[in-house]
Amino acid sequence: MYIGVDIGGTNLAAGIVNEAGEIIAQDTTPTLRNRSSGEIISDIARLCRGLVDKAGLSMSDIKKIGAGCPGTIDTETGTAVYVNNLKMEGVPLAGELERLLKKEVHLENDANAAAYGEYCIYGDGAKSFIMITLGTGVGSGIILDGKIYRGFNGAGGEIGHMTLVSGGNRCTCGKDGCWETYASVTALIAQTKAAIEENPGSLMEKLAAERGKISGRTAFDAARAGDEAAKAVVNQYVKYVADGIVSVVNIFQPEKIVLGGGISREGDYLLKPVEEFVKANDYNRYRPHTQLEVARLFNEAGIIGAALAAR
Ligand SMILES: [Zn+2]
Repeated sequence: MYIGVDIGGTNLAAGIVNEAGEIIAQDTTPTLRNRSSGEIISDIARLCRGLVDKAGLSMSDIKKIGAGCPGTIDTETGTAVYVNNLKMEGVPLAGELERLLKKEVHLENDANAAAYGEYCIYGDGAKSFIMITLGTGVGSGIILDGKIYRGFNGAGGEIGHMTLVSGGNRCTCGKDGCWETYASVTALIAQTKAAIEENPGSLMEKLAAERGKISGRTAFDAARAGDEAAKAVVNQYVKYVADGIVSVVNIFQPEKIVLGGGISREGDYLLKPVEEFVKANDYNRYRPHTQLEVARLFNEAGIIGAALAAR
């Protein structure tokens, strides 16, 4: 039995995961991300202890603990080197948790952990597997020959920060034109907002008013109902997503690419046009094509992947 912890900007989630990668108990607590790293780490430890109690187990039943954290992670030393939205920079997270829980802790980048989780459960043993998560940003994890690819320094596999438009939108990483500034849910919301302003009275405007906000679903729901302005937003967004995927395919020609994140719940409505665009623009015309799928583990991928990566 393992514990997997998913450290997010909003919630800290943890689960007890068995050898088969099934979660047998899980719990979450708010991250309250402006707190010090010490406070967050003691909350993670409390969460883990509570989970073990809840499952009727003791800490001696747990072999190892795996934790996924956003940012650049030194997995060798278990240090969070650079974290965008938490006060974790330079914090020896694994060591601190080991001290509190008296258990070996393996620290991994959160997107890598999620990709590894999805790979372990639904990867069908693909030799090369890439998961792309369309969320607040565009996260990604690359699994080659069953192993997480991290680059020589742990900062590798940040596909969301490849350039889609030279000199384009300013990204949170400081560079301009990153893929995630066009293909993330944050970007989709901005694209939807702009279209609402340009098309007063559109169904998007009505849906946003009913729900009290513009979300990643606004344009998709309105497009499905036939709203022309919304269809234009969705078509453009799909093209941004698919154009980036073509580059990923051209570099890696991976056996499988899985799309995760909230927007992947749109299922075939997102996947089919992406697939069509990728097929039409793939450099490879003569060999078998990369299989494109939507993720199936959703929020649990991070917990399961962190736990299984600790094995
Ligand atoms: Zn960037």
